[in-house]
Amino acid sequence: MRIVCDRCGYQGEGEEFRHVGNVMCCGPLIFRECPSCGNKVICDRQEMREEVERTAREVSRRVEAAIARGDARQARELLRDLSILNQCLNLEAIDEYIRVKKREVRRLEAASSLS
Ligand SMILES: [Zn+2]
Repeated sequence: MRIVCDRCGYQGEGEEFRHVGNVMCCGPLIFRECPSCGNKVICDRQEMREEVERTAREVSRRVEAAIARGDARQARELLRDLSILNQCLNLEAIDEYIRVKKREVRRLEAASSLS
């Protein structure tokens, strides 16, 4: 399986990219680390785009849930996952979504530090 790093363009066989963890605790997608620049690359199978999209939708639902219950820390972590997922999808809509939600998270954090 060939993997290409989306940051530096390094190409290599899957084994060169160290497995660093799952995208979600129980999801099928995994992060691998680029041996050249240390960038986290999502890689699984060639037909993974659909899976990545599905995961991105699932993550965004969890972001909503985390924000709804005021869990800024969790929302932040999920948004980070989402932005890594979007390195593979490159969807402007997701970038925009992340920007909007980050503002909401900052408001949450500001509100909780006041109380
Ligand atoms: Zn790289």
